[in-house]
Amino acid sequence: MIKVRVSSISETEQLGEIIGKVLEKGDIVCLTGDLGAGKTTMTKSIAKAIGVDDYVTSPSYTIINVYEGNLPFYHFDVYRINDVEELYEIGYEEYFFGDGVCVIEWAGMIEEIIPDDRIWVEITHGTENDERIITIDGKMDRWTDVLKDFEIIG
Ligand code: ADP
Ligand code: MG
Repeated sequence: MIKVRVSSISETEQLGEIIGKVLEKGDIVCLTGDLGAGKTTMTKSIAKAIGVDDYVTSPSYTIINVYEGNLPFYHFDVYRINDVEELYEIGYEEYFFGDGVCVIEWAGMIEEIIPDDRIWVEITHGTENDERIITIDGKMDRWTDVLKDFEIIG
């Protein structure tokens, strides 16, 4: 686990781009954190790094939006689901175990179906308005070299 402090939206975006750049086919990025933490902000930057040109918006009502980048990009937002069954109904396995990368906002709500080999990112508010504490867990070998410009706090 690695913990980073960012102090602005643009730093969250930079971190998102770094995460996006190291993603590979089959990767699943789980985003957790309160409403307004910055999950969608980070998702947009991950998408940009993957080469998605389309405008990325949260699929709150549809659960998933599919984009084409250098890899297929699957953006989940499970905030509004009532039951994990709804993920089976949309055929989530096709995306989780498919040819692209998945980013899942509110992943904690469907933790039971998420494979162990995922990247778990938690965003919490810091003490200042635009400050965020971002914890990354999983695929730890990917982060050793790429986070040099960030303030690592744990
Ligand atoms: P979520 O998807 O977690 O609900 P959003 O990304 O939609 O959150 O919104 C985050 C909000 O917080 C935006 O209004 C953004 O401008 C603001 N914000 C302020 N500082 C940051 C930061 N460091 N990182 C991300 N968002 C920030
Ligand atoms: Mg969101």
